[in-house]
Amino acid sequence: MNALIIDDSRAMRRVLRRIVEPLGFAVTEAGDGQEGLNQLSEMDAVDLILVDWNMPVMNGIEFVQAVRADTKRRDLKLVMVTTETEPMKMARALMAGVDEFVMKPFTSDILVDKLRLIGVGSF
Ligand SMILES: [Mg+2]
Repeated sequence: MNALIIDDSRAMRRVLRRIVEPLGFAVTEAGDGQEGLNQLSEMDAVDLILVDWNMPVMNGIEFVQAVRADTKRRDLKLVMVTTETEPMKMARALMAGVDEFVMKPFTSDILVDKLRLIGVGSF
């Protein structure tokens, strides 16, 4: 299984990596949405993307829209890891194609439960 972790915070990327690697994911990292798209174009199979909302260059919502516009990537699961809790913004993210949200700060149990909920992996 392959996961792409996109966050402009290196510390947050490390936190996420340490949670999903033991679940069996091979992790690729990116620091913003544009870098994420570049990484994605070079990956054969991607099962899971964990993406931050607020990032420079290209934010999480723009990234999600770009990924969901690509029909070849229809099966992958997109989880937005964010501090945004405003209902209108979250509705917009869901319409763009986000499968689940994880609110910062979070515990590893919360993240793992969300991954089970959307049916990615078998752990
Ligand atoms: Mg950020």
